[in-house]
Amino acid sequence: MTPVVMPSYGRTDIAFEYGEGVYLFSTNGDRYLDFASGIAVNALGHKHPRLVKALADQSKKLWHVSNLYKIPEQEELARKLVSASFADTVFFCNSGAESVEAGIKLIRKYHSDIGHSERYRIISFDGSFHGRTLSTIAAAKNRAHVSGFGPMPDGFDQASFGNIQTLRDKITDQTAGIIVEPIQGEGGVRPSTQEFLESLRKLCDEYDLLLFFDEVQTGVGRTGKLFAYENFGVKPDVMSLAKGLGGGIPVAACLATEKAAVGITPGTHGSTFGGNPLSMAVANEVIDIMAEDGFLDNIRNCGKLLFDHLVKFSKTNSGIIETVRGCGLMIGLKCIMPVADFVEACRKEGLLTVPAGDNVMRLLPPLIINENHIDECIKMMTRACERILSE
Ligand SMILES: *Cc1c(COP(=O)(O)O)cnc(C)c1O
Repeated sequence: MTPVVMPSYGRTDIAFEYGEGVYLFSTNGDRYLDFASGIAVNALGHKHPRLVKALADQSKKLWHVSNLYKIPEQEELARKLVSASFADTVFFCNSGAESVEAGIKLIRKYHSDIGHSERYRIISFDGSFHGRTLSTIAAAKNRAHVSGFGPMPDGFDQASFGNIQTLRDKITDQTAGIIVEPIQGEGGVRPSTQEFLESLRKLCDEYDLLLFFDEVQTGVGRTGKLFAYENFGVKPDVMSLAKGLGGGIPVAACLATEKAAVGITPGTHGSTFGGNPLSMAVANEVIDIMAEDGFLDNIRNCGKLLFDHLVKFSKTNSGIIETVRGCGLMIGLKCIMPVADFVEACRKEGLLTVPAGDNVMRLLPPLIINENHIDECIKMMTRACERILSE
């Protein structure tokens, strides 16, 4: 029989009833340490009192009015994002893929408006992930995501992640921009090198290409800076945000410089739900909390502590884990055994994690964790390894 929910996900047989901070409680009463955060979404954990209040307060005032009117909560959030970043202007939407689409359209429109509509092609990288719409799967070119969904929209070329020479060879008179995740997420927590991002910036300046950082996963505090690009000191022209931005409420944003957004005038792009007062109220609170003294420091400190523990752990469990990589609280463990089995063993010990490409297990805890949660995570992983070795 056809399942009533389309089976596009292979789901684990657990349902959760409620969450509290870094913990989730299942319908059958089990407690889990949530180092998955709904795939880097619940950046402030579950049921954060200030987010609950922001949502409740706004819910009693106004939910939605449409972008036909001024939305002060949007302007407030846009001002905060602009003052904290390279950007001059922001477009609000509802999901990561949508914010990437907005960025792709911006790049094409820029070249078209300066008289170069022949420049529409965007270079992406192998191992990348940009969402599940037609153009975002066409950009990432992951065979499993593309297969059966053709024909793909034209306009995407691919180079090898981290390799400047193959990239140079792909640049033609039709190239408009380059899209890259500063640290690949779904691809298996693969960080760019400083040198690679610097070279991308130089190439973009040389050929008047727009540089697009997809920070849907890395953005909003995840790597210990508000935006991951700050770790590298390389600024993009366009940037997408989503996952952590609403702390669990669907909201996304495409940020751009004045130059890159030149083509966006009334009627050129839009979203019915994008930037509604309800999601804006929560996202404003998320950004305010992250701007407070010590918030990002805690991510960096906990990230370093967790990373060091994991390196030790990988050495004592060298038959299971090959390497540890990542930045801040976005950490990947490249596994030797199939990653799905290790994720399952951890879950049986009460630890939730997320599998990624390249046989990597991702740890994406809420950004509010402390040392105790790290100790608990390591203990659970140790028991998971014992479980595996005893089986
Ligand atoms: C998750 C993700 C997306 C897609 O976000 P959706 O909200 O699922 O559309 C795009 N880019 C990156 C880097 C992501 O991690």
